[in-house]
Amino acid sequence: VPIDLAAFAAVLVDEGLSATRQRCPIRLEITNPPTHQAMADPALLRHIFSNLISNAVKYSPEGSPIDFILTPQGDDVVCVIRDRGIGIPEKDRAHLFEAFHRAGNVGQRNGTGLGLVICKRCVELHGGSIHIESEEQEGTAVTVTLPLFKKTEATD
Ligand code: ATP
Ligand code: MG
Repeated sequence: VPIDLAAFAAVLVDEGLSATRQRCPIRLEITNPPTHQAMADPALLRHIFSNLISNAVKYSPEGSPIDFILTPQGDDVVCVIRDRGIGIPEKDRAHLFEAFHRAGNVGQRNGTGLGLVICKRCVELHGGSIHIESEEQEGTAVTVTLPLFKKTEATD
């Protein structure tokens, strides 16, 4: 179904991700126009964003802000989740989308190393793409690009 990503993101951030929000504030920034419709499966979309936000929180110090930014760009909506956490060491960056790969700097934080693999698959099912930029000890930005839904596509 067509989903307004701005409203969807606001609900996600609001409704809690609650454990998450208590640890790090999430700053949602929606640039104009405020509706960014994408054709998406709501459960998968929720899965994508909650995974990325939980990574941002898990790999950040307590209280460190997370930015969640939605911007239209041509025929796409660009969604960025940026943290100021531990970052990803250079040698691990090429392996982020490999199942069970976890970077050398995760310490005691638990995880399976499947979250990003699942996110990438879900984003691609929606015709989108995902990429990650990171500097160790500076932070990480994950960019998810989803095609905007155009009403004309549905009418023919
Ligand atoms: P889970 O399967 O429970 O999500 P995970 O968080 O370890 O486990 P992924 O979400 O797939 O697995 O992430 C893979 C690896 O990428 C992580 O183990 C971590 O090393 C690195 N990583 C992912 N997101 C971040 C981030 N925001 N900051 C720093 N490192 C990250
Ligand atoms: Mg994860």
